[in-house]
Amino acid sequence: MDNKFELLKEICKNHGVKLTYQKLEIFREIIKAKNHPSVEDIYNRVKVNMPTISIDTVYRSLNTFYSWGLISKVHIFCDKARFDSNTRLHHHMLCTECEKLWDFYWPEFYSIELPAEVKEWGNIEGQFVEIRGICRECLKESETSR
Ligand SMILES: [Zn+2]
Ligand SMILES: [Zn+2]
Repeated sequence: MDNKFELLKEICKNHGVKLTYQKLEIFREIIKAKNHPSVEDIYNRVKVNMPTISIDTVYRSLNTFYSWGLISKVHIFCDKARFDSNTRLHHHMLCTECEKLWDFYWPEFYSIELPAEVKEWGNIEGQFVEIRGICRECLKESETSR
């Protein structure tokens, strides 16, 4: 965890960007968050200590961290962007009920040959799998409420 903060300091210095208290707090929240938070989630958490912060600042900071490769973004079609402090290559499982996201690793996936139509389609810059369904917690809940 400390390494990420050292990295942030160094990158800020290299880009000539001042590491403000706000940026640091936003970064702390995204690193702490294990549940792929949205901009609103992070905003609601940093607001507690910094009531005057705007959602726009949070949004811009997260995108800056993203452009520096410190965090990644989860692309889901249905709703707003969710951010991810996990920058290792991984895939996601999405519960369509509670909208929580889980990481999973599947190294063998990258050695599977892509279908011809995908290779011919254009330049491939990323390969991710998204599993959708209903998580065990939600399944349990629907069982007990029945
Ligand atoms: Zn669920
Ligand atoms: Zn993730």
